Amino acid sequence: MAIAVVGSIHADFYVKTKRFPQPDETVIGSDFAIFPGGKGANQAVGCARLGVETYMIGAIGNDYIGSLLVENLARNGVRVDYVYKASCNSGVAFIILNEETGENMIIVSPGADNALTPEYVENSLRQLSNKVKIVLTQLETPLETVYRSIEVAKKMNMITILNPAPARELDNSIYKFIDVIVPNRVELQQLTGVEVNSIESVFKAGEKLLDHGVKAVVATLGSKGAAITTPWLRAIVKAFPVQVVDTTGAGDAFMAGLAVALLQNMDIVEAVKFANATAALKITRMGAQSMPTRSEVENLIS
Ligand code: ADP
Repeated sequence: MAIAVVGSIHADFYVKTKRFPQPDETVIGSDFAIFPGGKGANQAVGCARLGVETYMIGAIGNDYIGSLLVENLARNGVRVDYVYKASCNSGVAFIILNEETGENMIIVSPGADNALTPEYVENSLRQLSNKVKIVLTQLETPLETVYRSIEVAKKMNMITILNPAPARELDNSIYKFIDVIVPNRVELQQLTGVEVNSIESVFKAGEKLLDHGVKAVVATLGSKGAAITTPWLRAIVKAFPVQVVDTTGAGDAFMAGLAVALLQNMDIVEAVKFANATAALKITRMGAQSMPTRSEVENLIS
């Protein structure tokens, strides 16, 4: 059985500079690099690297960046049959890094991510209905598309996992279709209004989401690991201690690990342990898509 990831596909353009330009000013920067990104694409690459058949349902623009993004997904083993080419630009982020202060300035142009329609996602999921067991989605595409994918997937008896990132307000009526919601601390606080400043408050906020109809809440807690709240369980699953190199994409690696583990019928505690290990390995490397393989994760756990 397979995982379908419904979400964003971006290219991140990074340039380093010693100081930010003023309006109308040009400064000469130093290194420049393009990295593939987008939470959807990162999570799809994460799942595929863990050895599971993974379909990306998303959109790219009709530009050469879109072709690069699709090639990158395919090279990482993601099935790209349901990546749609929209008549606009691909989703991009321009990131200016200030080498002196460590600050950054970012402009995102969502482009094709905003062209991913509920109808397109519904049709894709229907065509994949006998292959896909888990649907994984985030909040970098239009909310009506996110809602439709969760509702349609649930009605087709798939397992639905929502990573509510970046934080956006959600309609209360969607929660009953969500099997597992996976916020970080900031997102958990924004979704529930509970001030998240202790383990007790994480569980309290988790229970609020359960009251809305979610089946399980897995809150990621950075170096502390993750907290599970279900109607019958409150548990903390510790992170793996590792040398931190780059935490970009840690949350995306966690999502991939969790989805793959649940696909393979691990119970929720085992699955969160597998997700912590996947995220821990990712943060030992540079880049949002430097996702570990299954044997690397198994070695860390054993
Ligand atoms: P996000 O990056 O989305 O804000 P978190 O910071 O909560 O999310 O991190 C996601 C997951 O990455 C954590 O649940 C944990 O498994 C792993 N992680 C993050 N930081 C560390 C760390 N310093 N050491 C080990 N694991 C970490």
